[in-house]
Amino acid sequence: RALSVRRAGAGWRVGTQRGAVLADRVVFATNGYADRLWDRLRRTVVPVSSAIIATAPLPAEARARILAGREVLYELGAITTYYRIDDAGRLLIGGRSSLGDRAGPHAFPGLRRQALALWPFLRGVAWTHGWNGHVAVTPDHYPHWHEPMPGIIACLGYNGRGVAMATLLGREVARRALGAGTEDILLPPGPIRPIPCHAAWPLGVTAGILHGRLADALARRWPPGPGA
Ligand SMILES: Cc1cc2nc3c(=O)[nH]c(=O)nc-3n(C[C@H](O)[C@H](O)[C@H](O)COP(=O)(O)OP(=O)(O)OC[C@H]3O[C@@H](n4cnc5c(N)ncnc54)[C@H](O)[C@@H]3O)c2cc1C
Repeated sequence: RALSVRRAGAGWRVGTQRGAVLADRVVFATNGYADRLWDRLRRTVVPVSSAIIATAPLPAEARARILAGREVLYELGAITTYYRIDDAGRLLIGGRSSLGDRAGPHAFPGLRRQALALWPFLRGVAWTHGWNGHVAVTPDHYPHWHEPMPGIIACLGYNGRGVAMATLLGREVARRALGAGTEDILLPPGPIRPIPCHAAWPLGVTAGILHGRLADALARRWPPGPGA
């Protein structure tokens, strides 16, 4: 873990518990794990936890009744869930989880309940994996990158869609670190703007999840009519 970043001549000295690294440039790619090493940066995103559980590989007839064409589906509820069948024929279903690291197939009973509500014939199927982690949400829902001083770059805030976006922005930031002009980078760098009242985020996230669950439950019970 990087514990400090200080100027060292024309470059930077990154301190860790076991020694220091000297570098011309430092990239902070910490996303939902941004810590107090750079507190202003940490306060530009809200960490939100996302979880996935997976079944053992399903028999062909079960797979054919779920997403026969191996489509990837993302629900449009207030609290989204997403699911797909993977290469091995497992069903993966993911969604919001409470904060704090948890792992194992039994760690997220809400996701399992939702899977069984959608596909009751999965009752009795073995669930073998479960994990969660932090994603980083930004107020404008765009990823951000910053370069507050020469040799210091930060990129983060993929709003749960970082597999493609972090890969792309990582490439762009690497080009910038190697000397490309900011005008050649896909996204312009932005100012570091901490979110007001950031310390209240755990409350805000919990309230947002409860509100979303309620909104989804009400919408299921009383779906909007055709004129809505
Ligand atoms: C369950 C789950 C499902 C997801 N599903 C999808 C999906 O389907 N599609 C999609 O696009 N995205 C998905 N995401 C989001 C995606 O995983 C992230 O957007 C992506 O991993 C961000 O990549 P990153 O490299 O920026 O950050 P991360 O992979 O989060 O890495 C940040 C790293 O910074 C390190 N770090 C922080 N502080 C320090 C420090 N002081 N010193 C050293 N290291 C530090 C952390 O240890 C961590 O390794 C999912 C996330 C989760 C948790």
